[in-house]
Amino acid sequence: MSGLNHPPSKSVSTANQSIQPQSYHVNSLGHACIGDMDLTELARTYGTPLYVLDAETFRSMAQTYTSALTEHYPESSLVLYAAKAQMNMGICKLAESEGLGLDVVSGGELYTAIQAGFPLENVFFNGNNKSIDEIELALHHEIGRITVDNPDELALVHKVAQKKGVKAQVLLRVSPGIECHTHDYIKTGQLDSKFGFNLSDLGPVMERITGEYKETIELKGLHAHIGSQIFEVRPFDDLIETLLNIYYNIRENYNGLTLTDINLGGGLGVAYTSNDDPMNVEKTIAHIAERLVAYANNLKYPLPRLMMEPGRSMIANAGVTLYTLGSSKSVPGIRKYVAVDGGMGDNIRPALYQADYSAIVANKANRPFDETVTIAGKYCESGDILIKNLELPAVEPGDFLLVFGTGAYNYSMASNYNRVPRPAVVLIEESEAHLLVRRENYEHVAALDVIPSYLLNPEPKADPAVQ
Ligand SMILES: *Cc1c(COP(=O)(O)O)cnc(C)c1O
Repeated sequence: MSGLNHPPSKSVSTANQSIQPQSYHVNSLGHACIGDMDLTELARTYGTPLYVLDAETFRSMAQTYTSALTEHYPESSLVLYAAKAQMNMGICKLAESEGLGLDVVSGGELYTAIQAGFPLENVFFNGNNKSIDEIELALHHEIGRITVDNPDELALVHKVAQKKGVKAQVLLRVSPGIECHTHDYIKTGQLDSKFGFNLSDLGPVMERITGEYKETIELKGLHAHIGSQIFEVRPFDDLIETLLNIYYNIRENYNGLTLTDINLGGGLGVAYTSNDDPMNVEKTIAHIAERLVAYANNLKYPLPRLMMEPGRSMIANAGVTLYTLGSSKSVPGIRKYVAVDGGMGDNIRPALYQADYSAIVANKANRPFDETVTIAGKYCESGDILIKNLELPAVEPGDFLLVFGTGAYNYSMASNYNRVPRPAVVLIEESEAHLLVRRENYEHVAALDVIPSYLLNPEPKADPAVQ
């Protein structure tokens, strides 16, 4: 499905370049708001920690991707939201309402899409070690494409498809030898990555697809995802040339076999702090589309359907997390710690890869800064520090901390470490707040525990002291 059914957005969103959600503002009480919701009120109503999503930001990013592709790419296109960034059934419906497809990477994500009634022809299944059960689920529901990662997995898809008597619609994920870091990239002949077919293995794989697997595998195109939090467009230029050269060679060597899909992955960056300078999505998509058209024309290759798979840039800046501030501790001459009622259980990114965040006090959003503090989580790990050296107005227990940019890879990586229940997720659309995920309670935390019966009524041990 292309973005053609969807009216172009009124304005081009630069939401991924802004730390705050689109509808963020401060009201006359000096309280931070999203849409018409006062976040201080929201924290009191739903409790903290609380994940909050701004529908306007998500929608405007979705419209920016789809309208940029529709405008700049003359063939059809599809934007697949990379659901691993944050997924629940409500977000599936939100994505569907914007005409997006979904990129899922596990049976659990696929199941969520199925339960949400998502149009499954627009679901693509990625991942480097799909199980037989996951492949069966995908083929049973006739999802759009299975993106196959390696020769073993291709053999498995072939087997399952053969057993079911169906033909799998497949993309091959390749490892194109383009590695992105945040601010620079390198091209390597031999990329050391757990993902994707090595380019040197494609020959034998094509032999199988056009021979032994002819009845079970329908190759639709290639997929590559070169990295995340990418800040420059040049790696995409190289990616387009690398992939289209393979398309050309396949057509030359396999009876004119013409691939009809190309999936360039996701990875566009977002602003977490004022140090980040991410690319404008509209301009980046325009550039990518123009390069693809130019290079395909150069090779006289018919334009394939173009797919992009953004996760972070679609939802990171739509999300914020609200915490209640609690105890503090000053280490004289070194720093002052202020603790929140969450931490690495709801946001592992600072501990996992030193990710930086911006934050304010939601109920003191207009006050000038008084002090520099370090925000500590409540989990039993010294590394559970959310933000170092954050400037804040004078704070007291009961104030609400608002951390920006927590829409991507926060809830989806959340854990019950220390048996802390996971927070709720609330979506704000205009003046309404809607619950997307209920808050866990202690019963949920212990719900799957089983006490083996032999431990329930143990034989009382003889007490040597009594005898
Ligand atoms: C993670 C991932 C994405 C999304 O990456 P972002 O950096 O969040 O845009 C897209 N495609 C694949 C295959 C991925 O693994």
